[in-house]
Amino acid sequence: MFGRPQLVFLLLLLVAGLAWLRLPGDEQRVRTALIMGTLVEIRLAGDPQQFNPAIDAAFAEMSRVEKLFSSQLAESDVSQLSFSTEPFQVTEESAALLQRGRQIARQSDGAFDMSLGALKQLWGVETENPQVPSAEQLQQALAGVGPEALQIEGRTVSKSNPHLQIDLGGIAKGYAVDRALEILRRAGVTSAAVNAGGDIGLLGSREDGKPWRIGIQHPRKQDELLTTLILTDRAVVTSGDYERFFEKDGVRYHHIFDPRSGYPARDCQSVTVVAADVASADALATAAFVLGPQQGLQLLEQLPQVEGLLVAADGTLHRTSGLAALEP
Ligand code: AMP
Ligand code: MG
Repeated sequence: MFGRPQLVFLLLLLVAGLAWLRLPGDEQRVRTALIMGTLVEIRLAGDPQQFNPAIDAAFAEMSRVEKLFSSQLAESDVSQLSFSTEPFQVTEESAALLQRGRQIARQSDGAFDMSLGALKQLWGVETENPQVPSAEQLQQALAGVGPEALQIEGRTVSKSNPHLQIDLGGIAKGYAVDRALEILRRAGVTSAAVNAGGDIGLLGSREDGKPWRIGIQHPRKQDELLTTLILTDRAVVTSGDYERFFEKDGVRYHHIFDPRSGYPARDCQSVTVVAADVASADALATAAFVLGPQQGLQLLEQLPQVEGLLVAADGTLHRTSGLAALEP
């Protein structure tokens, strides 16, 4: 019935069809859990029987990280540091994350700031009763903040002002995703994507060997993508003013603060950062968001292995020079 060339063609079609049919996710396993107030999604290829224990362990690891860094839990390292008026011994792990945060605080000229706990509480953006604070309240909440607000020596951390409240909301989620990936890697997983509300860590490539394709959300059009990034073994994190905000008298007040003014940063709608690890991408996205499209772009451009896409307040797009190589 079929000559040899036709048969080969038919077989090719079948194989291609099957591969295509499999792609949207039949063999990809997706599991979710609520951690750090965010829906965390772990997607990986392979036999679920084999990898379910690894996913359980990855979620458990993220919960452990949450207990260490949450400002909501009184016994966390971060809360104890906030309450303490004396130099305080944190765990080695906390000291290491605080060091990394401080490095990005310095690189960003203080735009990234881990001492904004009091300011965050004052605004209450994520609470039932958010408010626009008075100038006096803002001044009080900003007393002593800055890239040198924390002295870290070994595991001993001291605050320049004993009343400073520490908040790792701009970096801890990314760190938790890094830890989850490490647990999966150790369990022998070679292809996985972990997404904690826009903080995405990618292990290897997709099951079919092709790179991951990550859609970047348009900050003003809910069902639209700005672009797609084609990535393997990378971290990609987006900070946006549309994630958590309240509106008063027609003004949007969101959750990323400019430490210079104490107000939500105004110069960007969103910032996406690609980096080697999720914690760095997380902190850099927050930092670049505060710096705005020009200075933010400069910061990302000068760092090796880092790319970024910034959406300015007027909706214009600003890309680092290497970003186009990651786009289709
Ligand atoms: P992200 O969504 O990663 O941009 O982080 C926003 C969270 O980081 C906020 O909910 C605060 O907890 C915290 N945050 C806000 N402004 C800053 C800032 N300028 N530097 C560091 N962390 C911040
Ligand atoms: Mg961040």
